[in-house]
Amino acid sequence: MITVLAGGVGAARFLSGLIQIEKPENIRVVVNTGDDFILHGLYICPDIDTIRYTLTNDVGSQGWGRSNETWHALGELKNLAQHAPERSRATDWFALGDRDIATHLYRTQRLREGADLTQVTGELSQAASLRLKLLPMTNDRVATMLTMEDGETIDFQEYFVKRRHAEPVMSIQFEGNRQAKASREALDAIADAERLIIAPSNPVLSIGPLLALPELAAVLRSQRHRTIAISPLINGKAVKGPADHLMAELGLDSSVVGVANYLDQYAGHMVADEADIDKRASIEALGFKTTFAPTLMSTPKRARELAKVVMSATLDD
Ligand code: GDP
Ligand code: CA
Repeated sequence: MITVLAGGVGAARFLSGLIQIEKPENIRVVVNTGDDFILHGLYICPDIDTIRYTLTNDVGSQGWGRSNETWHALGELKNLAQHAPERSRATDWFALGDRDIATHLYRTQRLREGADLTQVTGELSQAASLRLKLLPMTNDRVATMLTMEDGETIDFQEYFVKRRHAEPVMSIQFEGNRQAKASREALDAIADAERLIIAPSNPVLSIGPLLALPELAAVLRSQRHRTIAISPLINGKAVKGPADHLMAELGLDSSVVGVANYLDQYAGHMVADEADIDKRASIEALGFKTTFAPTLMSTPKRARELAKVVMSATLDD
């Protein structure tokens, strides 16, 4: 069995390559839930949904949301929100399409009926005929919070979507992480995997929440010799999103070396882009084996080629 630790878009791209070469039944994905939030009363799990929509060829052209969307409900909400207090006017900046809303309605209702997030995610996957297992990292509430340079602390969606991840961040906290329990399914998926892969997701925002769960981090450390990380940074730049400048703002090196430093307790092999070959010695000095290959997944074929590289990366016995 293969287990992949995942955020949203970078992970979804990698997984779309992996399922071209491995049976989806052999793949489990432990997904970040630190971005989850409630909007218009709906329970929304952006990373879980991005992966599910991508792997079922139902993702919007922008890389999130669903394909063939209509926006009637949001349009009505916008009309209604004109007279609402400021905090209820999320319609200005957070787009939810009609088809996407059906997912959140279903999830919200099932959670209200007492199902846990793992169960509901399984139901949604089954409904979409998704054969790999998507496992939320926890069934409890963990919220990624960011403290900005001026000392204000805001939640993930306000940072990422409303403020377009443009403002400098001083620190990140994962609210609730000490009380939250990693799910049994997620822990088992890590403990009994033959090969573990850390997807090319934002290290601090997407993988950080998983590492903030003490039990999950401990199991992952014990599996370091089986774990391969893929760098989301190519030549010091994120392919998408704030990973590069955010890492610098947090005092980390914004390159694959910084990614290696951040993950060195958890992974024993780093797959980095061929453009970063000059960093081989620095990464290996941190105790990693290394493989250099093209890592930009601009087409399904490139994603498949990267998956092949990762599946043939050598592990310690
Ligand atoms: P989010 O939750 O949707 O922000 O997605 P992730 O955290 O999973 O992914 C964001 C990260 O994916 C960014 O740091 C990107 O640099 C990385 N990423 C996206 N596409 C690619 C790609 O084709 N190759 C590599 N190496 N990284 C990528
Ligand atoms: Ca995310």
